[in-house]
Amino acid sequence: MGEISRKLFSEARRVIPGGVNSPVRAWKAVGGEPVFLQRGRGCHVTDADGRTYTDYVCSWGPLILGHAHPSVLRAVQDALRDGTSFGAPTAREIELAQKIVGAVPSVRSVRLVNSGTEATMSALRLARAFTGRTKVLKFAGCYHGHVDSLLVAAGSGAMTFGVPESPGVPEVLARETLVARFNDLESVDRCFEEAGSDLAAVIVEPVPANMGVVPPEPGFLEKLQERTRARGALLIFDEVVTGFRLGWGGAQGRFGLEPDLTCLGKIIGGGLPVGAFGGRRDVMAQLAPVGPVYQAGTLSGNPLSVAAGIATLRALEQPRVYDQLEELSARLEQGLRGAAREEGVPVCINRFGSMFTVFFGVDRVRNADDAAKADTRAYARFFRGMLERGFYFPPSQFEAAFVSLAHSADEIELTIRAARDTFAEMRREVTRDGTA
Ligand code: PLP
Repeated sequence: MGEISRKLFSEARRVIPGGVNSPVRAWKAVGGEPVFLQRGRGCHVTDADGRTYTDYVCSWGPLILGHAHPSVLRAVQDALRDGTSFGAPTAREIELAQKIVGAVPSVRSVRLVNSGTEATMSALRLARAFTGRTKVLKFAGCYHGHVDSLLVAAGSGAMTFGVPESPGVPEVLARETLVARFNDLESVDRCFEEAGSDLAAVIVEPVPANMGVVPPEPGFLEKLQERTRARGALLIFDEVVTGFRLGWGGAQGRFGLEPDLTCLGKIIGGGLPVGAFGGRRDVMAQLAPVGPVYQAGTLSGNPLSVAAGIATLRALEQPRVYDQLEELSARLEQGLRGAAREEGVPVCINRFGSMFTVFFGVDRVRNADDAAKADTRAYARFFRGMLERGFYFPPSQFEAAFVSLAHSADEIELTIRAARDTFAEMRREVTRDGTA
C-alpha cells in the first residue's frame, strides 16, 4: 500500500469505525490495509497514490459497463441540472420501472428503494403480510443485506431455527428464520417440516455470490419453486447481484422461472444508490398507498440514480452484450484454470456468466459447508500477488469477482498472465515453506 492510502486509512479510523463504511472494504479477510481509490475509468481504478489496477470488483457488481461510462455520466449530468431530489414522482421513474417490468419475467409491478438491503427487508414484510405467516427460510451462505431477520447463517444448527450472526439481532427475530443448505432439497424439506403452516417465504440468491459464486444444480431452483407453491409460501429471488448481470431477464430469465417476488439493486442504479422489489400484481397491490403494508423512502426513486440506471439498462439492451460478457468471462475462466493447473496450484473455479470465484484447496463448492473448507490463506496470497501486479480482486475468498463490458480481450490475457506468475510464486512459497 502506498503512503497516501496508509495516511488516509489512519485518518479515517479516527472518525469512521474501522476506517470504512462497509466492513469488507477493510481487507480483514486478506490482511494488510486497504488502498483508497480515487478514480475509475473503464475497467481500471486508480488509488490515492496514483497506482492503477484492472478492477474485478466493479463496485461489487453495479458497474457492468465499467467505471465512468460516458452515457451514464451524461445521463447523471443531465438529471443533475434539473435538481437532485424532489420527494415527488418524476417521469424518469416510469421508464426505469417499464424497463424492469419488460425485462424481468415475473415482475409485473415494481417499487424503487435505495439499497438492496431495503429491497429484501421490504419484500419480507410484504410476504409476511400477504401470507399472514411469519417464518422465513434462507440458505446458509446467502447474503441478503443486513436485515435483522436475514443476518442469520448456518452455524451448528444448520438445518433448524437460526441463531443471530450479529449481536443486536434479537433472538426472537432470528428464531423466525430457518436456514437450509443450498443445493440440498432434503435440508429444505426438513426446514419446511419445522416451519409447519407458518412459512411465509423462501428467499434465495438464485446463483449465490456471497459464499463465493455457487451455481445451482440442475433442477434445484425448479423444485424449490414447486415446493414453495405447494406450501402456499412465497418464493423470493434475491437478484440484487444477478439481476441484469446474468442476462436481460436475470437469473430467472435464464432458468425460465417465475418467483413471486424479486429483489434488485446494483446494476439498475448504474453505480448510484438504488434497490427495487417487485413481482406478482396481487402481492404488490398490498403495498401502501394501494394496500395496507407500509413502505416508504425520502430518496426512493432518486432522479440521479434513476438516470444512471436507465442509461445502464439502455446499453444492456443492445444486441450481443451478454454474449460478449460470456465470451470474455469464459476465456478468463479457462485461462485461470490452465495457469493454476500448469503451476500445480489446486483451485476450483466457479463461474456463472460474468461472475466467478477462484476457490483454493477444494475440488468443488456447491454450498456454504464446501466453501468454508477453502484455503483462505491461499486466497489472501493470490489476492496480494494479483494486487502487486496491478489487478484488483475481491478482498475475500467468499465474494464474487465481476467482469464488465469494459474489460477487453487483451486485458483478460494480461490478467491470465499475472495469475500465472502469482500461482508460480505461490507454488515456490509452498515448496520453500514445506507446507501444503
Ligand atoms: N442481496 C444480495 C444478493 C447482495 O449481494 C447484497 C449486497 O451485496 C444485498 C442484497 C444488499 O444490497 P446493499 O448492499 O445495496 O444493501
